[in-house]
Amino acid sequence: MINKKNKKYIPVGRQTVDRGDIKAVSDVLKSDWLTQGPDVKDFEKALATYVGAKYAVAVSSGTAALHIAYLSLGLKAGDEVITTANTFVATANMLLAIGVKPIFCDIRLDTYNIDEEQIEKLITPKTKAIVPVHFAGVPCEMDRILEIARKHNLSVIEDACHALGASYHGRKIGNLSSMSIFSFHPVKSITTGEGGAVLTDNEDFYNKMLLLRSHGVFKDKNGFNVMESFGYNYRITDIQTALGLSQIKKLDRFIGKRRVVPKWYEAELKAEPGIVLPKENKNLKSAWHLYVIRVKDKKDRLPLYQYLRGENIGVNFHYPAVYSHPYYRKNGFGGVNLKNADLYSDTAITLPIFPTIARKEVVFIADKIKSYFAGKK
Ligand SMILES: *Cc1c(COP(=O)(O)O)cnc(C)c1O
Repeated sequence: MINKKNKKYIPVGRQTVDRGDIKAVSDVLKSDWLTQGPDVKDFEKALATYVGAKYAVAVSSGTAALHIAYLSLGLKAGDEVITTANTFVATANMLLAIGVKPIFCDIRLDTYNIDEEQIEKLITPKTKAIVPVHFAGVPCEMDRILEIARKHNLSVIEDACHALGASYHGRKIGNLSSMSIFSFHPVKSITTGEGGAVLTDNEDFYNKMLLLRSHGVFKDKNGFNVMESFGYNYRITDIQTALGLSQIKKLDRFIGKRRVVPKWYEAELKAEPGIVLPKENKNLKSAWHLYVIRVKDKKDRLPLYQYLRGENIGVNFHYPAVYSHPYYRKNGFGGVNLKNADLYSDTAITLPIFPTIARKEVVFIADKIKSYFAGKK
């Protein structure tokens, strides 16, 4: 990735694919099964074992995983679901897809996760579930969220797309609530190209999701295809899950490498007064999917972002509050504003983090941030 200035582009995130991964994929291409073969089941087993859940349903994307999880829970038009304002649009979009109204909760300014203490005031007779998102890989305060859910008889589904490999008080993220969702997009902890999964201990949800994944069709005792319920084609291929199986063996190593990068940023940037660095609570072990800094003066946000982009650093923005997107503004969320989510949106910049980023790249990025602030003085 070379640009005009002949400087190497440093992306905000990227996959790590080695020869073993390539061989695993090419072996599938030479086999009898390109899809719905043995690798899908083996990948599901490996995922379930890794997070300590009974069942996994692997599908074509994290978005598809959200969709079938919401449907298997029985969510329907007119229901409300409380979720965080700070997430990728898919978390809320799949609620809209089934006519459910997302109710956006404000975020904490230490973790940028849903502020669990603001959930209860959003609960109405229509509320059916809470969908926390472990933003940037930092686990939400699940004990408190599960306690609120129990008290009000609500379900909890975790959007854990950032958090494969993270842990909560020593327990792996992926089986703390009714269902947990993962994505295997190239920037996530492991990749299958596109792909996703739902993890659960609940056999009823599991069986419903198997049908939702494949047209609602199953084989009867004669081998005939019978459709008894509605479904989609959300299947993932063996080509993808062979890659996933090869990747999951390296997951802990990937997370270990990600966990070093914040230390490098911290060493370079801790004395820079213009910004706030992310912090980790030692009981909430982050998967470090994203490394988000915030500028203290929101006037620095766009110029710093543009300056870093000009230096070929793939800084990015995760996320504008979901309700602030034009589509949401035009479709019932025109009046929604949340104090911390808005402040966050005005000040956050995501810096590059991925397993193969080099220390000298981190030093280069940090130097550019320091020279931006030095140039202003
Ligand atoms: C990546 C992501 C998704 C969607 O996953 P895809 O595999 O891209 O469909 C959903 N929610 C969050 C928080 C994500 O980061």
